[in-house]
Amino acid sequence: MKKVFTSTSLLLMLTACAPSAKTPQTVAANPQLLSGIDTQWIDTSVRIQDDANLHVNGNWIKKNEIPADKSAWGAFYELRDATLPQLKGIIENAGSSAETNSDAQKISDLYASFMDETSINALGVSPIASQLESINALKSKQQIPTVIAQFNRVGATAPYEPAVHQDAKDSTKYIVDIGQSGLGLPDRDYYLKDDDVKLKDIRVKYQAHITKMLGMIGDTNAAANAKNILSLETAIAKAQWTKVENRDPVKTYNRVELSELNKLTPGYDWNQYLTESDIKGKVDYLVVSQPSYLKGFNALLKSQPLSVWKAYFRWHLLNNYASYLSKNFSDESFAFYGTALRGIPEPEPRWKRAVRLEEGALGELLGKLYVAKYFPPQHKARMEKLVGNLLIAYRTSIDTLDWMSPETKKEAQAKLATFNPKIGYPNKWIDYTTLVISKNDLIGNINRASQFEYNRNLNKLGKPIDRDEWGMTPQTVNAYYNPELNEIVFPAAIMQPPFFNINADDAVNYGAIGAVIGHEISHGFDDQGSQYDGHGNLRDWWTKEDHEKFSAKTQQLVKQYSAYIPVPGYPVNGELTLGENIADNSGLAIAYKAYLISLNGKPAPIIEGYTGEQRFYVGFSQVWRSKFREEEAISRIKADPHSPPQFRVIGTLKNQPGFYKAFDLKESDKMYLAPGERVIIW
Ligand SMILES: [Zn+2]
Repeated sequence: MKKVFTSTSLLLMLTACAPSAKTPQTVAANPQLLSGIDTQWIDTSVRIQDDANLHVNGNWIKKNEIPADKSAWGAFYELRDATLPQLKGIIENAGSSAETNSDAQKISDLYASFMDETSINALGVSPIASQLESINALKSKQQIPTVIAQFNRVGATAPYEPAVHQDAKDSTKYIVDIGQSGLGLPDRDYYLKDDDVKLKDIRVKYQAHITKMLGMIGDTNAAANAKNILSLETAIAKAQWTKVENRDPVKTYNRVELSELNKLTPGYDWNQYLTESDIKGKVDYLVVSQPSYLKGFNALLKSQPLSVWKAYFRWHLLNNYASYLSKNFSDESFAFYGTALRGIPEPEPRWKRAVRLEEGALGELLGKLYVAKYFPPQHKARMEKLVGNLLIAYRTSIDTLDWMSPETKKEAQAKLATFNPKIGYPNKWIDYTTLVISKNDLIGNINRASQFEYNRNLNKLGKPIDRDEWGMTPQTVNAYYNPELNEIVFPAAIMQPPFFNINADDAVNYGAIGAVIGHEISHGFDDQGSQYDGHGNLRDWWTKEDHEKFSAKTQQLVKQYSAYIPVPGYPVNGELTLGENIADNSGLAIAYKAYLISLNGKPAPIIEGYTGEQRFYVGFSQVWRSKFREEEAISRIKADPHSPPQFRVIGTLKNQPGFYKAFDLKESDKMYLAPGERVIIW
């Protein structure tokens, strides 16, 4: 299920988010530290100096196929997939005879409600029939603010969405921001690029898919409605800001007093929306992320007939629930969103989808049981030490920067001093007491879980900032930086090989999880994060000259990454991926410094023929072994702020002086950049 009304949209994640993973590790009684290098995946026919990704991961790429139920495969995906049977075991052990409203009953019955395919198939579309009927019954466009509020509560796609955040101009309080939304395809480019054959083809298939789905609920005018829906979404896409524009935290901060909303969108009944969404009385103003978009939406509301809007909302309501309805709906939904859009041949087995549903609805309940079973305390202790060393390395590094003035350095140090690392799992868990889960009511469970999450976020308004909250579950193989709380967060599940190997020598761990930690810290100092201070407020703490020097360096990175072409005709968007590329480059540089600090002046041991510095860079590279189906790769180039993994390896290493030294790079090597072309920021 899609998360509703979350405060997580600002989180800068390590990789695109997908449901999660983890294998228990035992520490040998007499640990002989290993190199941690997966030598079986190294392709010796390619020199590391020519292509570090193909050298370190070449044999993995040759010998592994993407599973039929996945759009991509690699270290992240394998770990995420390995978590699913562990969570299934936890769910099955919860016990179906558990006491009513206990955690165990909820875990067990939500799973059972999704696994009961016979009943679900017998019900067809009937579990959402009354919701569909209420759209059919709309008499006037004046009722649409209420429809949008209802859609927001259940996470169905609507023209805009609210989110609860800390106010970026006063981080001591929560506010509601309103952001653009409303599309059934991953990005506005899918609607607007007329010169792109592949995106055009997806558009044609999308319209056919809507026609089919509407036909399945008895719409006798399905083809004409689908055509109108695509036209309406195309107009919405035109009014939307691009993903690059949305990366600007200053331009997307537009405080609008409630009394002024009518000036922005004359005639739109905000009072009705705020009442129905339950936001009324809780805030004095909203932060409107894209004011011109809201104007554009309001114009479309006026110009398009009620019948078109009704068709649009019916479609998105159906789409929101399609995977949880009878097989004909879930199969057709997968045929478009799985196969056509992302290239996946087969759906995942039902039990995996059930686990993912639990992840969305009861994530922290599972998380509590997961860490008790699969997260050894010694992992947390070693991780804390690593994070501590990374922060020390950052501090030292800021002091030695040759391009930054003492005033700006002082501000950067002040921000660094307030970083809050969170490791493993939350010290305070979400209390699910008020969420009712029933064994025989899947759609009811999904709606109540969405409503629970919506209310949980809404209830923050007017209260002090909750610094204990987590934006990911502990069983997620990922990490994030949150600029509002200035925190770096590492869920338990990322602390396993190849990211973190308790049985390996430090070098490979500094290169892998160390670079992950460095990456997350660096988000505090990327082109977006550097606009916030340590208290989470948008405040320009840079001198003009330093800011110009910083921008010159980041523009060089934009140029470097824009030249990478993962799929013919689809280059990397250097501007969309800039923040992540800064984090990758700076994170690895800082991790390298931290590794040298950890050696404490002693030479690193040679293990399996590799020096410590070499293990560090191989450890970094092997984390990114992966392959993608072409449709998925294109969708990510359009919508994912991360560069494709092979360029996270090559693009980053080309800028690291330590890499040149470790492998003695020469001008004739393909990875070689002249010293003046290398971008070194932090
Ligand atoms: Zn990141």
